[in-house]
Amino acid sequence: MLFAKVLPKFCQLHRPLLRSYGFIPSHLLLKAAPPPPPPPPRQPSKQSLIGKRKAARRMGSRDNTLLLFDVDGTLTPSRQVIKPQLYDFLVKDVKPKFKIGVVGGSDLVKICEQLGGGTRVISDFDYVFAENGLVAYSSGDIIGTESIQKYIGEENLQRFINYALAYLSKITLPVKRGTFIEFRSGMINVCPVGRSCSQAERLEFYEYDKVHKIRETMAEDFRREFGDLGLQFSIGGQISLDVFPKGWDKTYCLSYLDKIPNIHFFGDKTSPGGNDYEIFFDSRTKGHTVTSPEDTEKELREMLQKLQ
Ligand SMILES: [Mg+2]
Repeated sequence: MLFAKVLPKFCQLHRPLLRSYGFIPSHLLLKAAPPPPPPPPRQPSKQSLIGKRKAARRMGSRDNTLLLFDVDGTLTPSRQVIKPQLYDFLVKDVKPKFKIGVVGGSDLVKICEQLGGGTRVISDFDYVFAENGLVAYSSGDIIGTESIQKYIGEENLQRFINYALAYLSKITLPVKRGTFIEFRSGMINVCPVGRSCSQAERLEFYEYDKVHKIRETMAEDFRREFGDLGLQFSIGGQISLDVFPKGWDKTYCLSYLDKIPNIHFFGDKTSPGGNDYEIFFDSRTKGHTVTSPEDTEKELREMLQKLQ
């Protein structure tokens, strides 16, 4: 009995030796037990898989979805620069999942200054639309430009500029500085306090304007006087009024994006009269109202979370 128990063990231990002598009782060979199969990977429940697929379908992917951001108040504090960690988050974490783009009323130089400095935003982002898309770049290449000068003609342009300067000369504010009219490719920017004001003066005017409706009153006056030119007057940012042909609001940039089925737009001025209002409510976009760059980041992190 004992022999029957010990012999197989002995054979197993001295297998090489026994094999060299040509004697291995085959019926006594012990095969090493096969390793247990690895546990099957934990499968997500059918319910959660369906939920994630639905979320992914709803939000799309990099192939068919663009996340388009306003600049001031959405990616940066007004007229200030983007925080490096938000810029990196957009380029390193969001861009692999979705196309990313910006659309701002400012000219290209200011947008570049605010978003990373130099011209890196032009190559880092899939789309950069300066002046609401009147200057348009895709993946570093210019894809279109338009000009208000061509559109309304020099005579009408001077008629408007002269009128605006005369209007501004008649109002008194807590402070006035320089650069009251800024001519851009696609718009005229009228600024009662003057664009060369300091940050503190800018905020002071913004608060003053909330009470005294300086820009609102000015826009109404301009509308009455220049209704015949087909111009639109839109309060943008904290200190100025953007003047441009009707339809040249932020929806203008959508004309470059008709091959992208899902466009999510993020903006902070989405109420009537705000410079994000038209694109926010456009049927080609899904609008997201945000209150600050931090709020934008929070919403993006939630979107990415739903895809995981
Ligand atoms: Mg804004």
